[in-house]
Amino acid sequence: MPELPEVETVARDLQRWVAGATIREATVHWDRTIRHPQPAERFAAEIAGATIERVTRRAKTVLLHLTDGRVMTVALRMTGALIVTRPGTPPDPCAREVFQLEDGREMRYRDVGKFGRIGLWPGGGLRSIGAGRGARSKRVAEGGRTYRIGEVFSGHGPEPLQRGFTAKRFAERLSRRSAKLKTLLLDQSFIAGVGNIYADEALWRARLHPLRAADTLDAGEVRRLHRAVRQVLRQGIANRGSSFSDYVGADGEPGQNAERLAVYRRTEQPCYRCGRRIERIVVGQRSTHFCPHCQPER
Ligand SMILES: [Zn+2]
Repeated sequence: MPELPEVETVARDLQRWVAGATIREATVHWDRTIRHPQPAERFAAEIAGATIERVTRRAKTVLLHLTDGRVMTVALRMTGALIVTRPGTPPDPCAREVFQLEDGREMRYRDVGKFGRIGLWPGGGLRSIGAGRGARSKRVAEGGRTYRIGEVFSGHGPEPLQRGFTAKRFAERLSRRSAKLKTLLLDQSFIAGVGNIYADEALWRARLHPLRAADTLDAGEVRRLHRAVRQVLRQGIANRGSSFSDYVGADGEPGQNAERLAVYRRTEQPCYRCGRRIERIVVGQRSTHFCPHCQPER
């Protein structure tokens, strides 16, 4: 599943390739991808003629900011991909939405598993998001009223690569929680964008056991984890993301980070630090990979 580095890669690709482009027409092949506005025909009518100003990322969602202030969100979820194709590229049977650009290219939303969601929202409120406040499972944007883009992310935690995400702030947040580290790193209301791959990698790098309770970390351990989270995410971005199955950048090519991972999906293989075997356990129904020697359970 695409996490922060994969979604950031897609957003940067799109910024380079479609910023300034105008969407001539949108074709919706799978209605249920469209989250807002509904029905899907309304979405298609409202996005037609829009010009993309810039492309960014928030949590695991791609944000296409339009010149009129509206924002299109694309949540890739498990198997989604946004791919820009040259004119004349044969149709893709797994393209659930196709955005025809005025210059003849297409921006295709490809999704084998159909889990992803696309929305089109009025602007406003994005500056205030990221404080981590708001109900964790608050359901927004499911009813008939119009939601502003900021509300869509109201339940999300801070962006780990932003300057405001300091070790001090991270320490404060960890000290208030007794959850297991692995569980907490996957909680999008606690920290945005981290998923199963980068949580395991960060814990290995920080030499912390996945089952440690967050509020038991000392100051040095918090600093290690803070640095590790940021390092593994930055490395993931530098390598254009980790591809195991469906993830590709907007160029349609897989990322190069999977072969550089230290523990994720390396069960029974030697730890790069100590040579002992990587173990796999299940935490909160998620596969968790770690080195029992480097990451002892206290
Ligand atoms: Zn080890």
